[in-house]
Amino acid sequence: MTFRRLAEYLQRLEETPLRNKMTQILSELFGEAKNREIGKICYLLLGRLAPLYQTIEFGLGERMIIRAIADGLYKEAATVTKKFKKSGDLGITVEQIKNISGFNKGKALSLNDVYEALMTIAIASGTGSQEQKIKKLGELIQEVDSLSARYIVRIPIGKLRLGFSDMTILDSLSFLINGTKKHRPVIERAYNLRADIGFIASVVKGEGIEKLEGIQPQVGTPILMARAERMSSSKEIIDKIGKGAIEAKYDGFRIQAHLKRNKKKGSNEFIKLYSRNLEDVTLMYPDIVEGLKQQIKADEAIIEGEAVAYNPNTGEYLPFQETVQRKRKYDIEAKAKEIPLKLFVFELLFKNRKSYINDWYEIRKKELKKTVGRGETILFAPEEVTDNPKRLEEIFQDAVSRGLEGVMAKKLDGVYRAGARDFSWIKFKRSYAGKLTDTIDAVVMGYDFGQGKRAGFGIGDFLIGVYDNQSDMFLTIAKIGTGLTDEEWRAIKVRSDKLKVNGKPLNYEVDKIMDCDIWIAPEIVVEIRADEITRSPVHTAGRIMGPSKSGSAIEVKEAGLALRFPRLEKFRDDKTPTDATTLKELKEMLKKQKKL
Ligand code: AMP
Repeated sequence: MTFRRLAEYLQRLEETPLRNKMTQILSELFGEAKNREIGKICYLLLGRLAPLYQTIEFGLGERMIIRAIADGLYKEAATVTKKFKKSGDLGITVEQIKNISGFNKGKALSLNDVYEALMTIAIASGTGSQEQKIKKLGELIQEVDSLSARYIVRIPIGKLRLGFSDMTILDSLSFLINGTKKHRPVIERAYNLRADIGFIASVVKGEGIEKLEGIQPQVGTPILMARAERMSSSKEIIDKIGKGAIEAKYDGFRIQAHLKRNKKKGSNEFIKLYSRNLEDVTLMYPDIVEGLKQQIKADEAIIEGEAVAYNPNTGEYLPFQETVQRKRKYDIEAKAKEIPLKLFVFELLFKNRKSYINDWYEIRKKELKKTVGRGETILFAPEEVTDNPKRLEEIFQDAVSRGLEGVMAKKLDGVYRAGARDFSWIKFKRSYAGKLTDTIDAVVMGYDFGQGKRAGFGIGDFLIGVYDNQSDMFLTIAKIGTGLTDEEWRAIKVRSDKLKVNGKPLNYEVDKIMDCDIWIAPEIVVEIRADEITRSPVHTAGRIMGPSKSGSAIEVKEAGLALRFPRLEKFRDDKTPTDATTLKELKEMLKKQKKL
């Protein structure tokens, strides 16, 4: 298939708002593609060159793309920028320039040629690679027709956005087979076990749906993670699952670890860590990688657990706000020393070529125990088996008093439901037991412009704070970016725009990280509900700063107060900003919370 042909499909998809029509167009495209092309097409449709879990970054920003267009089409960068400012879309810009300057026809490059060229651009690294990337992209833009160029430039800047996800592709694969969505469950089950859309598509097209039925997990391809249901009383939970394994609910982040040992002694192990949304986070957590190398006793394994910052000497779990500081791209080693992580493992999904997905939890846990050797980093999540609601309540209270989020109750005979939310796992958290019952009245301090769908509203998140009547300052406690209805987003934007000010008001104390695109005067009071008050070094309410040991810098001595899972309840037009919750009140709420 030529890339031009794919571009025609992309254009049709772009012009179709109807989901069913999109599915049809996609299945037509999959029908026309060759077996060896369909995988690549799937990645390209999602604006990528590889499955979601493989990080391939182009490393090209808008300015670089503008240069590539300018070089490739012999224009001044300023001319390209001017056109871009008008259209707001580099894809349209390059297409327009090609159309007017007679470069519109182009060569009929194959889909594979374009894919390979984009891959070469993406993987170029080291000195001089920026220039190579720009040059290569410029050449590609010059060579192809104008419609193809529209889509090619949108890929490196992540702006292909055709308005569908992998789920629509799964429907279309079913459509490809017999024009209905009938095969979707089988295809989805396979995708849940092997979350590589290109691989699944090429099996459907090349080998047939029957082949998918026997698909097993594979080390190196993430399994979509099982999720928990929630319930609010211990009795309800026991009624639902009968006897359950009760584990602590750690407040960190989920990790799925894949490991494969090379039989030859001394040769390198393959180890990958994936986050819940399938991001490859291996490089972020060298301490966990090392722990797995030392402690996992298997040639091949896929295990899951929760990574948390934990102090084994004091038995203290550090708050999420601390753990989350480990999610970073720079200064990884230094932070790993400062805040070492423990991985509390609770799942074994695959071991030495055998899948455990369809085995009972009891069996998986037993095998897991045998698989984790002694050590300091990979710890087996302790459990207690009970069918007594009173005992479950006690375990829950004990977990909460140790600073944990609550407990997870797991059905002993439950299988692992990849990618699904299911009553095999039930979470019982503090907030459902009425942890932070009071709401907080906070002041809206500023907002950031939105991206994606929210760009239409022009607001992506907003910063809120409390009032400190001692210093007469507003101090931040959260930035809220989710949980509002469209109407509420619109309302907050309209209200905020009336109060826009130039620069940060002098009575705002805000950490640099929390800076806003637009600052507004302290006028709007909102009622906020949250799961709990936590500690955060980036919020200024109650934060104490002081000189570092060497005295050369100012650093956080005591983290500020912040909200976990804040959500908007309503606008409190009846309140003035100085009537908002004060820092003192917030501190009292924290004390009460600790007592529960
Ligand atoms: P939630 O994010 O509130 O839906 O709760 C589910 C999450 O709890 C999982 O994705 C894990 O990241 C986390 N978690 C913490 N402890 C456990 C545990 N013992 N078993 C399973 N998940 C856990």
